[in-house]
Amino acid sequence: MKSFLQNLNESLQRLHTASMHALWMVLTTGRKEWAERCEAEEIAYQEALAAVEWQPDQTGKSNRCERRQLEILERERLDSRTSPETRRRISQVWNELNVQFAAYRPTSSGKQLTEQQILRELLHCPDQTYRKQLWQASMGIGQHIAPKLLELVELRNQVARQNGFDNYYVMKLESQELSLDLLDSLFTALRKGLDSSYQSIMAEIDEELAAKWKLPKKDRYPWRYPHPFVQEYYSDEQSSVPVDLQSIQSKLIDYFHNLGFAIAEMLANANLTSQDGKAQTNFCLHIDRAGDIRISCNLDPSVRGIAILLHELGHAVYEQGIDRTLPFLLRQPAQLFLSEAVAALMERLALDPHWLSWLLDTEIVQPDSYRRRWQNNLLVRLYWTMTVVSFERQLYENPGQPLNRLWWDLVEEIQGLSRPLEWDYPYWACKPHLTTLPVYYQNYLLGECAAAQLQDSLNQRYGCWNTREAMQQVQECVFSPGISHTWSDIWQTVCGSTLQSEPIVEQLRK
Ligand SMILES: [Zn+2]
Repeated sequence: MKSFLQNLNESLQRLHTASMHALWMVLTTGRKEWAERCEAEEIAYQEALAAVEWQPDQTGKSNRCERRQLEILERERLDSRTSPETRRRISQVWNELNVQFAAYRPTSSGKQLTEQQILRELLHCPDQTYRKQLWQASMGIGQHIAPKLLELVELRNQVARQNGFDNYYVMKLESQELSLDLLDSLFTALRKGLDSSYQSIMAEIDEELAAKWKLPKKDRYPWRYPHPFVQEYYSDEQSSVPVDLQSIQSKLIDYFHNLGFAIAEMLANANLTSQDGKAQTNFCLHIDRAGDIRISCNLDPSVRGIAILLHELGHAVYEQGIDRTLPFLLRQPAQLFLSEAVAALMERLALDPHWLSWLLDTEIVQPDSYRRRWQNNLLVRLYWTMTVVSFERQLYENPGQPLNRLWWDLVEEIQGLSRPLEWDYPYWACKPHLTTLPVYYQNYLLGECAAAQLQDSLNQRYGCWNTREAMQQVQECVFSPGISHTWSDIWQTVCGSTLQSEPIVEQLRK
């Protein structure tokens, strides 16, 4: 068993590293040769996983660490346990769509625009007809993605059924030690605790925008808001804080150093600005699970940009803190949502006006109002997240239903926005996660809940969560073990209880 696992870990690490490096290259350059390479490397990795075999009697004599590696291997193999044709077709379509997303730039009035440019225009432009045009342009990719995304959904469901699951959504949740019941109870608790707060902040936002655009408050069409999906809300006063992203980097290095984290090298290797062909999403990849950690962002010089950078640095310090002596299979976060939780926790630094005025060397006028607006932004994001999570679950449960209608039913019911006349279009397919990171969105929801609970728990124990002692505990209990323990055991060790929804409800309730 020992030598079997040793060889396996070595070969998987080699294949994984090649595949992640190709993925990094395709996402940061959008170049075709890297897309082809990425597809080939991904297939090689999947085939190696599918080909692994071991005798059941070997398992009996193994120790805890070896059994855990086999468990993780079984989980990771689920996606590859299908026919070689299906495996190849999934990789091929996934890659094709990934490149399409990375290279796509919406066109408005003959001009190509980046996501940042669209967001900037939507923040400032008062002309509602032009806003609607921009909004539609930002959704232009949906019709190109939807047919192939549906093919992927069918193929993924086929793989799930071959592995004995009802559908791919259930398979992915169970393979991450999560369940539909956990999601259901979380949804119920969040809606019950926060619906009225959400409605009141949306009313406040509508009033603010009605005054800004000099319009009556009669509808809630999405193009009125500064984000096409209304997945966040930064007010004018937040957006107008001046930020020099270059000069804050050395301060961030010092700050993280004081918390016990070394980020200088990661920032030096990061790719932080928009470029042609580069993917519009922000992400952090641990290329070799041995210290080569890369961050890619499209940062705007604003507090929003700082929040995004802090988020990705959260993922990065988690990856960095995983014990390097663990075997490759166990050298990954215990749960994707724990990594999102750490990212969300770091992002909360930007919520603190005192911290921000230190970072920017500038006074934040009206710090209380600044903090309150950040909380509003978190709430807007939470309701958007619930929309996507609900949609994705129903997408896999019944891909044949009228999905365009389902999308707007959920947007109206959860986010409280208005359905436009032109609703019958695959707007949902514009969200890259459904294609490129399937069954991932629930991790943002669980991550925000976990971040609130971790923050409360560390504040209680250490007086303040962002101290070296508190982070030392997170390093030891959360980062270091990798996935050698289940997420629920790790959570119990660091917070002394199960995952709770009360902290986030308490923090965001108005
Ligand atoms: Zn993240």
